[in-house]
Amino acid sequence: MTPELRGKVALVTGAASGIGRASALAFAQAGAKVAVVDVDQVGGEQTVQLIEDLGVDATYIAANMSSAAEVESMVKQTVSMFGRLDYAHNNAGISGDQVLLAEYDEAMWDTVIAINLKGVWLCMKYEIQHMLKHGGGAIVNTSSTAGLVGSRGVCAYVASKHGVVGLTKGAALEYARSNIRINAICPGTVHTAMIDRFAGNDPQVLAAFAEGEPIGRLAQPEEIGATAVWLCTSAASFITGAALPVDGGRVAQ
Ligand code: NAD
Repeated sequence: MTPELRGKVALVTGAASGIGRASALAFAQAGAKVAVVDVDQVGGEQTVQLIEDLGVDATYIAANMSSAAEVESMVKQTVSMFGRLDYAHNNAGISGDQVLLAEYDEAMWDTVIAINLKGVWLCMKYEIQHMLKHGGGAIVNTSSTAGLVGSRGVCAYVASKHGVVGLTKGAALEYARSNIRINAICPGTVHTAMIDRFAGNDPQVLAAFAEGEPIGRLAQPEEIGATAVWLCTSAASFITGAALPVDGGRVAQ
């Protein structure tokens, strides 16, 4: 347990699955109470159970990241349940369609941008309003290596994740003197449901993804969750506005 996180409160979006669940568990293992936010109630309540099994308090909050009212309420519910909000990992996201840009569907474009980019802005807006009144905090946004370099066939995703990096940098500068540190994590390929779907649930495609990585394997969600928690601790006290690749060397190529 990280003593400094004991008694603190973390909010994690997209916490019903994958990276978000691993992050929520990592915050709990470090001693923080956790608000588990997702549109998926079944998965969200499973995450809460896993945290409660560790002897740590958690609550499920239903909120769609593309709705300002639901995101505002998510922060209010967290504070009314646990009395404070110290850390937020704004992580919920979707991959969108896999088609070339000239064929990309306009409604899908709007949906990807609304969840992946506008959603991160909405989260920060209401989290920061609270943190400003209560002495500060730390925020981590999930971008992607697709927020640092291009990727074919996922134009809205690439645009949204580059947007998250820009938004993170701008926000970090605005609140650097308000004791609020804001960073982005840029994962490479992480073995989650999103990647299983992307690979068409084909183990050979997954193996090819792993082979294509400099490190020769996919990341596990826990490796991303641990980085999110670390960025919120005092070990990372001079880090703000960073877009940190957690990618087995992919963008070093
Ligand atoms: P996942 O599909 O396992 O989890 C995503 C979670 O987000 C799900 O629980 C889903 O219900 C939730 N969600 C989706 N839309 C939502 C909305 N509108 N409001 C609230 N919750 C919503 O995927 P994952 O791989 O864990 O992805 C988590 C984040 O990591 C995403 O932002 C993704 O883009 C990013 N990422 C993933 C990878 C990877 O290889 N898996 C790589 C880089 C970045």
